[in-house]
Amino acid sequence: MSWDKIGYEDKLLVWNEIMEAEEYVYTVGVAGEEFFKGLKEKRIVGSKCPKCGKVYVPARLYCEDCFIKTEFINITSKPYIYTYTIIYADENGNKLEKPQVVALVRFENTNGGLLAFVEGEVEIGKEVEILEYKIPLIVRVK
Ligand SMILES: [Zn+2]
Repeated sequence: MSWDKIGYEDKLLVWNEIMEAEEYVYTVGVAGEEFFKGLKEKRIVGSKCPKCGKVYVPARLYCEDCFIKTEFINITSKPYIYTYTIIYADENGNKLEKPQVVALVRFENTNGGLLAFVEGEVEIGKEVEILEYKIPLIVRVK
């Protein structure tokens, strides 16, 4: 596999049809499976370190500080906009009919976050309501 990596000013960098594999299977792992199972049931599954109490979203198997196994928990703290960007053009540079707001949504007192498409007046720090539990999430600013 090879491709031209040189970009040009005012042109978006895209590589179409460069994958040589016909199909592949990606396994999300034990924590990923628990997280996606949660999404199907409209739950956000994170994990908590039993030693230091650090909470991760999405769930992961081990605490990065203590190197011990975490426990899966349902995240119930408030989701909010941590940061966002507004997309005005598609991958070919064509103007979108309506700008798309993409945000990193974090949950109070947790580490990590989830990508989301945002409806409503976006603003850093604003609380959101989760409309659809998928990746990216669909959220509405409260
Ligand atoms: Zn820990």
